[in-house]
Amino acid sequence: MLVLISTPIGNLGDLSARAGEMLGSADIIACEDTRQTRKLLQLSGIEPTGKLLPYHDHNGAEMRPKLLSALKEGKNIALVSDAGTPLISDPGFKLVAACHEEHIQVSAVPGPSAALMALTISGLASDQFAFLGFVPVKRKQAEAAITAAAALPMTQIWFESPRRCAASLALFHDLQGNRKCAVTRELTKLYEQVETGSLSELAEIYAHKPAPKGEIVLVIEGKAPNREVSDEEVLSLLTEKLNHLSVRDAVKEVQQISGKRHKEVYDIALQLRKEK
Ligand code: SAM
Repeated sequence: MLVLISTPIGNLGDLSARAGEMLGSADIIACEDTRQTRKLLQLSGIEPTGKLLPYHDHNGAEMRPKLLSALKEGKNIALVSDAGTPLISDPGFKLVAACHEEHIQVSAVPGPSAALMALTISGLASDQFAFLGFVPVKRKQAEAAITAAAALPMTQIWFESPRRCAASLALFHDLQGNRKCAVTRELTKLYEQVETGSLSELAEIYAHKPAPKGEIVLVIEGKAPNREVSDEEVLSLLTEKLNHLSVRDAVKEVQQISGKRHKEVYDIALQLRKEK
């Protein structure tokens, strides 16, 4: 069978005993990066009996048939990514889907995941959440993704690079209003950090310090159905949106985010346009 093995996201001690056993005994370890996995095995004192093969986005089409035929021969394959849970913004989805099509058993050794750890330590509602992957690098795509997520009534989890963190916090503030947020960094590592506050506070802090080091997950409050969006927030959202949208589209988006009545938002938009 195919077994998805979660590996540490920073702290070696998080490799579970079962993960270690599976990695030691699998016939094949399919790795996002064989060098990275070899290092993990060495540091964890695991002598693999099977061979390590690369499996990533660039060789997936070529490797999948090979891995599937090994599985059909009865071999056990362990799939790992560089860190954390495979498939979560990491390779593996197509391989798992292909296994199901071929009636090959799939299982997992669950474990570390930056997304879930960030959510659980964020202090934001964890009863419902949406994992949205990386904030898109291109500005237009980032705006579209953040605007679409503004309507979700649950906590949002996003991966972000430290270099773009300050700009993204400002963008979230502009497009989603002044929600609560947690910037979580270097999880399970020596300099682990969680900063909580409103988007405006965190955007301000990050605008005035050098780009942080390490890896980051942003956790952002969902649109609460009863959350009162202040008039100032509606005004600031509209001002930002009218820079690049028509009155009609800006009103539609702000209405969606704020839950305010159409006429209320429309009147403010008209006023803003007049003043301009
Ligand atoms: N599959 C992995 C998981 O389950 O954690 C995530 C892989 S994704 C390619 C890498 C991103 O996850 C990083 O850019 C960062 O946003 C987040 N990440 C991974 N490890 C982290 C850590 N120790 N602290 C904070 N964020 C982390």
